[in-house]
Amino acid sequence: MTAKASGWAHMDNSRRWHFFGAVGGSLCGRWAFFGEVRDAAPSANADTCSACMAKIRAERARKGLDAHDRNVEAERTARA
Ligand SMILES: [Zn+2]
Repeated sequence: MTAKASGWAHMDNSRRWHFFGAVGGSLCGRWAFFGEVRDAAPSANADTCSACMAKIRAERARKGLDAHDRNVEAERTARA
């Protein structure tokens, strides 16, 4: 079984969730992590790293997935 290529992780020494890419470094460039990551973003009220989030948004926009992202945001707002 291989480790997940990328995903969210929370470390004891950071109060925020960071997103890790395939090389084990966080998108914001501040953290290194080689443990288990989660596919899904943590819950809407989780404290996520804004730098990591910005990189994910930029990457999604580049791939043309920003429309989907807006739908997810709308859904979250509706539930809140
Ligand atoms: Zn981060």
